[in-house]
Amino acid sequence: MLRLPPFRYLAPRSVGEAVRLFAEAGPETMLVAGGTDLYPNMKRRQFEPKTLVGLRAIPELRGVRGSSGDGLAIGAGTPLTAVSAHPVIARHYPAVAIAAGLVSSPQLRNMGTIGGNVCVDTRCNYYNQTHQWRKAIGFCMKKDGEICLVAPGSPRCWAVSSSDTAPAFWSLGARVCLVSSAGERTVPMEALYRDDGIEYLAKRPDEIVTDILLPPADGWTSIYLKLRRRGSFDFPVLGVAVAARLEGEVVRDARIVLGAVASLPREATAAQAALRGERLTLELIERVAGLAAGPAKPLDNTDFTHPYRKKVTRVFVARALRRIAGLSESPANDEEVA
Ligand SMILES: Cc1cc2nc3c(=O)[nH]c(=O)nc-3n(C[C@H](O)[C@H](O)[C@H](O)COP(=O)(O)OP(=O)(O)OC[C@H]3O[C@@H](n4cnc5c(N)ncnc54)[C@H](O)[C@@H]3O)c2cc1C
Ligand code: SF4
Repeated sequence: MLRLPPFRYLAPRSVGEAVRLFAEAGPETMLVAGGTDLYPNMKRRQFEPKTLVGLRAIPELRGVRGSSGDGLAIGAGTPLTAVSAHPVIARHYPAVAIAAGLVSSPQLRNMGTIGGNVCVDTRCNYYNQTHQWRKAIGFCMKKDGEICLVAPGSPRCWAVSSSDTAPAFWSLGARVCLVSSAGERTVPMEALYRDDGIEYLAKRPDEIVTDILLPPADGWTSIYLKLRRRGSFDFPVLGVAVAARLEGEVVRDARIVLGAVASLPREATAAQAALRGERLTLELIERVAGLAAGPAKPLDNTDFTHPYRKKVTRVFVARALRRIAGLSESPANDEEVA
């Protein structure tokens, strides 16, 4: 049985207290929300914080405020189950509801939070293993080692961004509210991430995500499709979030964001540009799906082979666009079969 290492647990009751405790506790301190990712990682000694600042006892971090007309603020401590079942999110921001509802298993969605999901660690076959496994094969640079075992000549880590909801939020133009002892700021979701498997978050280490802000729905529709081996609880091997604003058959605006293809979610900029101002026909969808697969450059470090993962990106983007266009009968939240 894998055991947690010893650590000190602090349980602030407000964001202000959490900020203060987090700043005072020093560098070997981490935040924990639901703990569904962090505690297993600590058991495998991927993280060895001396102190944890727990966010579960902070009521102001929980819940959804606002309306589809004015935009929504989703508290970072809101459980994934509540996000996926929220009627305004499900109706006006369906990509977020679908993505939250496809994270892991029901138990983990009850404990896991939306803030923890957008900050979740990157993943790699050589890293998401027990300490003994990693020791036997030789540690890699993400923890305890010097080199990358996937790309030994590489100066960087290529671990994969594996959040389901990050691409969905990004596609809908969400912003993230960050609070630290230096004050409060909001940044676009895309500014939260960095293209590095180790330093994958661009926020300052002492910043706490307090809210995720969704803009007014304003005629946008969206969808999220997920590929994974076991439908019951696996991380995404590919996530495709598509958001679009249609006027009749014409696309006025669109965003396509791919998850699990790089160390951060990737916006398919050429593909979404090709959609704008055009009629969403089957021919256009096929062309755009080809363009969208371009930015997906998976390495051989997650499930399925990487050539297959690249190939299937095109298939999933085409499926997502057909559903946005109403050219497909399949229900939006069906588990995807490649
Ligand atoms: C078997 C299994 C399957 C899983 N499958 C999926 C999956 O399919 N898709 C998926 O996306 N995830 C998956 N996960 C990972 C995890 O369960 C989810 O990402 C969950 O949403 C994490 O939320 P949490 O509150 O438990 O985060 P925690 O584990 O508490 O924290 C995760 C990280 O976020 C940081 N953090 C948490 N809250 C904040 C905050 N408010 N501000 C700043 N930093 C913060 C923590 O310091 C930590 O680094 C899986 C995990 C397991 C064990
Ligand atoms: S990509 Fe390389 S450095 Fe990063 S976790 Fe995998 S093996 Fe380690």
